[in-house]
Amino acid sequence: MNNYFVILAAGKSKRFHKNLVKQFYNYRNKEIIDHSVEKSLNSKLFKKILIVTNNVNHLKKKGYPKSISIIKGGKERSDSSLKSLKFLKKYKPKNVFIHDAARPNFSIKLLKNLSKNLKKNKAVIPVISSKDSLKYKIKDQIFNLDKDNSLLTQTPQAFRFNELYDLAINEKDKISDEATLFINRNYKVKFIPGENENNKITYLKDIETSKTYFGIGFDIHRLIKNKKLYLGGVKIPFHSGLKGHSDGDVILHAIIDAILGAIRKKDIGTFFPNTKKFKNVRSPIMLKPIMDNLYKSNFLINNLDINLICEQPKVSKYREKIINSISKLTSLNRSMINLKGKTVEKLGLIGKEKAIACEVIISITKYD
Ligand code: ZN
Repeated sequence: MNNYFVILAAGKSKRFHKNLVKQFYNYRNKEIIDHSVEKSLNSKLFKKILIVTNNVNHLKKKGYPKSISIIKGGKERSDSSLKSLKFLKKYKPKNVFIHDAARPNFSIKLLKNLSKNLKKNKAVIPVISSKDSLKYKIKDQIFNLDKDNSLLTQTPQAFRFNELYDLAINEKDKISDEATLFINRNYKVKFIPGENENNKITYLKDIETSKTYFGIGFDIHRLIKNKKLYLGGVKIPFHSGLKGHSDGDVILHAIIDAILGAIRKKDIGTFFPNTKKFKNVRSPIMLKPIMDNLYKSNFLINNLDINLICEQPKVSKYREKIINSISKLTSLNRSMINLKGKTVEKLGLIGKEKAIACEVIISITKYD
């Protein structure tokens, strides 16, 4: 196992952000560079891992294991790469893997595949085919490239150390990756399948992920005679209806509060105070502006879970109707709405059929 792993992390990442260093940006719970560090360590394929960076102090503070060395990088990627090879020469490596820290999503399986193929080859490069059509330009003329015969090279790339060292030390031009050194001299390169998820992170937008929030809602109204009963926007035949400033629809009120909770916008009373304007208002009319605002702000509902707490009416009888109604009012797929009926063993006001309560939990995601 005379393998060495080089992580190039000296890029200025100006396209990423003018103030943030890409390699140290938090991505999936750790700094981008640490995805590469951990995977190379966990693969147990390497004697030493060498990080080339212009932020040596930042990395030294992390307390990496001894098998990790950190050196200062050069001006261009190819300068950093050459520095790493010069540093490693004294260890007499057999193989060296060169990797860009900006690709945190490779797998350990890929490392093993590179290592396996290196037994019979001097350069092993992971490649994927292009999803987009490709053109290239010579002077003012544009040519089409056959997409199916075009390959996009990724890192990590694996090499016999001595061969790479000799090529790199004699190269005068700036090169974008080590594969170029072999290809320019028509040396044999073994291409193996790369990984589509092993994208290079270039822009902050590449990794800005959506955020998910939860909200909880609760409501209870007294049952009174001579009022219509509405649950989830559905008129239910019953001996009483729910008392309230509005139609008293506990399900829709709890949904509104759950949504407002998830987007951190206080509560239903803030939007619909007990004023004349909202006297006897139907709850779907209250829900509408809340939904419009939610979707306008790029939120999407993931799912809704509802507990309707009452002795009567039996939820099972109206479940389909209520779910259909909520689905229409929220534009949420029926399969993402769950409605449970819960009785209270005849206890208290709810048990004596003098009130109905409802609790709702909602999950929403914001997409940018
Ligand atoms: Zn209410």
